[in-house]
Amino acid sequence: MKRLCSIIILFAVLVGMTACGNKNQTGQRDASSGATSNKETNSSVTSNDEADTMKRNNQSKETTNILVAYFSCTGTTKPLAEYAAGYLNADLYEIVAETPYTSEDLDYNKSNSRANKEQDDANARPAISGKVENMDQYTTVVLAYPIWWGQAPRIISTFLESYDFSGKTIVPFCTSHSSGIGSSDKNLHSLVDGSVEWKDGNRFAGGTMESEITGWLDEMGIQPFAGESTGKEAAERVFDFEKKTVTLNSGYEMPLNGLGTYSLEDETCVSSVSEALKRGVRLIDTAYMYHNEEEVGRAVRDSGISRGEIFVITKLYPNQFEEPEKAIDVALEKLDIEYIDMMLLHHPGTNDVKAYKAMEKAVDEGKIRSIGLSNWYVEELEEFLPQVNITPALVQNEIHPYYQENDVIPYIQNLGIVVQGWYPLGGRGHTAELLGDETIAAIAKAHGKSSAQVILRWNLQKGVVVIPGSSNPAHIQENTELYDFELTDEEMEKINALDRNEKHDWY
Ligand code: NAP
Repeated sequence: MKRLCSIIILFAVLVGMTACGNKNQTGQRDASSGATSNKETNSSVTSNDEADTMKRNNQSKETTNILVAYFSCTGTTKPLAEYAAGYLNADLYEIVAETPYTSEDLDYNKSNSRANKEQDDANARPAISGKVENMDQYTTVVLAYPIWWGQAPRIISTFLESYDFSGKTIVPFCTSHSSGIGSSDKNLHSLVDGSVEWKDGNRFAGGTMESEITGWLDEMGIQPFAGESTGKEAAERVFDFEKKTVTLNSGYEMPLNGLGTYSLEDETCVSSVSEALKRGVRLIDTAYMYHNEEEVGRAVRDSGISRGEIFVITKLYPNQFEEPEKAIDVALEKLDIEYIDMMLLHHPGTNDVKAYKAMEKAVDEGKIRSIGLSNWYVEELEEFLPQVNITPALVQNEIHPYYQENDVIPYIQNLGIVVQGWYPLGGRGHTAELLGDETIAAIAKAHGKSSAQVILRWNLQKGVVVIPGSSNPAHIQENTELYDFELTDEEMEKINALDRNEKHDWY
């Protein structure tokens, strides 16, 4: 039996390698080098010129976080890699040997042919021509290769050892005539950092249909890059800077800037909300966990402003998810403002779907107008959204110049969900460093604005609604004056460059 299997595998390899040789004889060559934006890959790139490579890499730099890297000396793997890149909105990079493989190199019948020798030698590392200049930008790398003697060609080892893949996800697939992926993917694991998340590999026959590739990527949970829409485009699409509002997917309008009330207690909360309302602020963010819904409600009722002009957000805490209907009624009672404009689930937690469904029911009953989530990121949303009926109108997450969530924001916005940032000024205990940041202070000086205003404006231009917290009337006033200046693209870039992935709270 073992012998029979060996013969079948040998035959498969023979067919594969013969195909390799034939194509090379006709002069065809897969010679793209450098990552290319997938839009450019319809025309095959044959130049190995470094400058060109860098130009292409720079063009694609901010457009995707997925790379499809493939080795295809015969052209069998290439179209499949292109399907994957097209579907995922990924960049495409061809791994090209510095010394191209000739049909003689690939002749399996000759025990001393180059391919045979390389596959026999675990330390063989065929050199690669060109490189991926900007590997840092990718969080997911789809890796495609043909099977040679049951394993990935050694050039794949060269590729994996040439970059720092730590923290990335690698999704391998192989092409073969008949043999499976075998241990070829698992054997690559030891070549990269242990923090890499390896997805189980798959084998495809040459000529596999595009739908089969995309179906497999779906199954593996590899979502297409959210697209090229930037925060600026999203902001322009839905933010009305004249009216200072955004229209939610629920049809209601929400102000672009508001007051956060975390840690504002008792009379401090009442006076802060009253000051904000007096100064034209019409968006107030509270939560069951802030223990100040009653105070927020009192300030809203006593403001003399018509209820319909004010937008109040509150949140259910995970310890309320068990009995959500009761929790919703408690919030309505404490706030005592007829209805709740927006209710969020404060964090993911046990029974969150149940709690969300209760909020959906409360929308039907007119108790709540819009619903959403807080502290939900890409993976959490991917898992959560298929289980509920109403798409959240809002996701409220930590966002400030030191923790920017640049991958998460466009993903959420492309779902038609508005993003709101908490801790816009870094949160208490962190504001001094952020407001004193040299880059931000210099931009503020250039506009005759404060650092706080620059940070809040940066958020707005990224399409992120802001809810700075303050009990200081002067600050509350300052935080409303965000619409008489605009940051240039260059200034936006400078603030974008301050990202440290530095979370200032645990959730
Ligand atoms: P923040 O807005 O980042 O910072 C608040 C701090 O900034 C306060 O110490 C405040 O002091 C100061 N400040 C405000 N405006 C200023 C200005 N113009 N110049 C100088 N300092 C200024 O932090 P936060 O209030 O904790 O977060 C904002 C809101 O997000 C919260 O209030 C809450 O509604 C929400 N939040 C949500 C979550 C969630 O999990 N969903 C988590 C945390 C927060 P003064 O009082 O002296 O002005």
